[in-house]
Amino acid sequence: MKIITDERCTGYGQPGYPERPARVENTIALLKSQTELALDFARPTSVTDEIILRAHTPEVLARLAVPEPIDEDTPYFADIATYARASVAASLDALAAARRGEMVFSLMRPPGHHALRTKSMGFCFLNNIAIATLEARATGAKRVAVFDFDVHHGNGTEDILVNQAGVEFFSVHEHPSYPHTGGENRGHNCFNYPVQPDTPRLTYRAKLANAIDDLRSFRPDLIAVSAGFDAYLRDPLSDSPLLEEDFYWLGQSFRALGVPFFSLLEGGYSKDLPELIFAYLKGVAGK
Ligand SMILES: [Zn+2]
Repeated sequence: MKIITDERCTGYGQPGYPERPARVENTIALLKSQTELALDFARPTSVTDEIILRAHTPEVLARLAVPEPIDEDTPYFADIATYARASVAASLDALAAARRGEMVFSLMRPPGHHALRTKSMGFCFLNNIAIATLEARATGAKRVAVFDFDVHHGNGTEDILVNQAGVEFFSVHEHPSYPHTGGENRGHNCFNYPVQPDTPRLTYRAKLANAIDDLRSFRPDLIAVSAGFDAYLRDPLSDSPLLEEDFYWLGQSFRALGVPFFSLLEGGYSKDLPELIFAYLKGVAGK
């Protein structure tokens, strides 16, 4: 399995900011020390403005160079444009690997699924998964499904992909919760599965299974997964109930669809994040 990552993506952060460098540092350490999965680590390549601008207005790119906070969750960091572009590049590399039939995970930060067409927000600067989805469509994929299991609604992905031909978006998330969207479906292609805070674990899991069934009926030829690990019971940013074995089951469920897929790291803020990602990867690998 290919892991696209770059230790340089841990080069930004600030005290008290939950989307912290240790998320990726500790995961790289765990993945390099384990022996159950054969992993091939690759650094991301690069991305052109043209590809980014399918999903965002030019103002979003220009704003990354302005040294002022965008919102309270999305401060300015020196060189954030470079970090954000590397994360996008990794998503495109993951897309390419999936198309070659490889198993692949992009282990990068910043995450992307809250970034709107016209504005960065919620720890997210550029929408990695939406950019990769539009690239897939522009280069021959006929039916692309995007599945988002981060505990927060993928509002940015929905904003960019709503009513795009050949794309369906499925988001399972705690609601009401940040960013306070995703209570109902949008357009002809965005399907939301809100789950109340403090929902019992098996109910949450049944909702995920419903969404995967709906994805299957779309008959996608490619699947892009926004893999957030913050629906975990001990995550500080949610009131949701999932356990490590549920992330294993998610990986297994995507594998069982028999369609090329790639996954990108979104959220996940507990100290157990490395174990949760590892469990997911074992599911993806069918171990
Ligand atoms: Zn999240």
